[in-house]
Amino acid sequence: MVIKNNVSSQPYNTFGIDVNFSTLIEITQRQDLQRLYHSGVLRQAQVLGGGSNVLLTADQKEPVIVLKNQGIEVIQESEVDVLVQMESGQNWHQAVLWAIEQNYGGIENMSLIPGNCGAAPMQNIGAYGIEIKDVLHSVSAMDKEDGSTYTFHNSECGFGYRTSFFKTKWKNRYLIVDIVLRLTKPDHHTINISYGAIKEKLEELAITNPSIKNVSDTVIAIRQSKLPDPRTLGNAGSFFKNPVIPLAQFKKLLALHPSIPNYPAGDNVKIPAAWLIDQAGWKGKVVGKTGTYKHQPLVLINHGGAEGQAVYDLSEKILLSVKSRFGVELEREVNVW
Ligand code: FAD
Ligand code: NAP
Repeated sequence: MVIKNNVSSQPYNTFGIDVNFSTLIEITQRQDLQRLYHSGVLRQAQVLGGGSNVLLTADQKEPVIVLKNQGIEVIQESEVDVLVQMESGQNWHQAVLWAIEQNYGGIENMSLIPGNCGAAPMQNIGAYGIEIKDVLHSVSAMDKEDGSTYTFHNSECGFGYRTSFFKTKWKNRYLIVDIVLRLTKPDHHTINISYGAIKEKLEELAITNPSIKNVSDTVIAIRQSKLPDPRTLGNAGSFFKNPVIPLAQFKKLLALHPSIPNYPAGDNVKIPAAWLIDQAGWKGKVVGKTGTYKHQPLVLINHGGAEGQAVYDLSEKILLSVKSRFGVELEREVNVW
């Protein structure tokens, strides 16, 4: 465990926002968490993984725990699948690459999502038609109030579209220590290429019977061509969720905007937030040191030296403008601290 005082937050968040962390505690093994509980620190602390889904708008007076506990272990195996335990401080994309190397399937569509395994259940990470809830067996989490550790099975986590109980009714209560995924063994994979541009890209490469590695490589190539690399342009991925609206509201919108893209979402309809933001005139806009990404306006950008509050203010302007143009309320996906 490493404890530092008065540290710049810049290296700890992909937006590259610079605020002051009064106390930063880096954890490399889960046993350290018990020590932090007994010293009374855990109860007040905020938790950070890779910092790829936070916007820091103020100095952090409470201790910030950065999870760096690493490890991946197969804990159970059958003819068809394996249960794999991943430590919360384990980098997610490295875990995906590890799974592909072992020929374990199920998470290849979620290649190149930044951040750590421990944060993955928080917002039920998802990409290209797969969400972590589709492969998650259980989550072990420590109650910051009483130091006890619980194992929550998938059905207990309250997963929904980019949400879970960890982000809503249990917000700030639990520290996720590890996750367990059920991954398929060779000959039992389900390849999912129906979403977004994956199929097209595979066709271009003349791959007709893709392996999980082909899918992962394709997702990586598409993402690298579409999304800004946080190492060169600060961002936290999609700033807003894609709104899911009632069918009746959608029908009214469709009458006014016949080209509106849409996807069924149960009894409701999902509309790409990027389209709404683009139509409202925000694509590629630069506002002071902030802006929206020129290829994907759902991604808000720190062009260098921006304050978190300025990014937040931009998000508020976008939110109000989409609301006034379409009557649709965007919801922030990024966690604002
Ligand atoms: P952090 O940003 O460190 O934390 C996020 C939140 O979770 C915070 O509130 C934090 O307190 C809490 N938290 C973190 N770890 C724990 C823990 N162990 N226990 C309890 N609470 C914890 N997301 C997607 O879903 N799909 C995508 O395709 C996607 N693409 C992205 C692309 C880019 C370029 C970027 C920058 C982000 C993208 N994201 C995407 C968002 C982000 O990568 C994910 O939400 C990721 O899971 C965040 O992980 P993290 O470790 O960085 O979390
Ligand atoms: P895209 O493929 O251009 O699609 C635009 C939006 O339409 C996506 O947000 C997606 O919603 C939805 N969509 C596309 N095909 C769909 C289908 N067949 N069924 C239902 N919904 C469909 O999106 P993109 O921006 O390039 O992103 C690709 C994937 O990576 C998406 O899944 C996206 O969510 C994910 N991603 C997430 C983040 C993040 O920070 N959360 C950042 C970058 C990319 P969904 O969002 O529901 O998938």
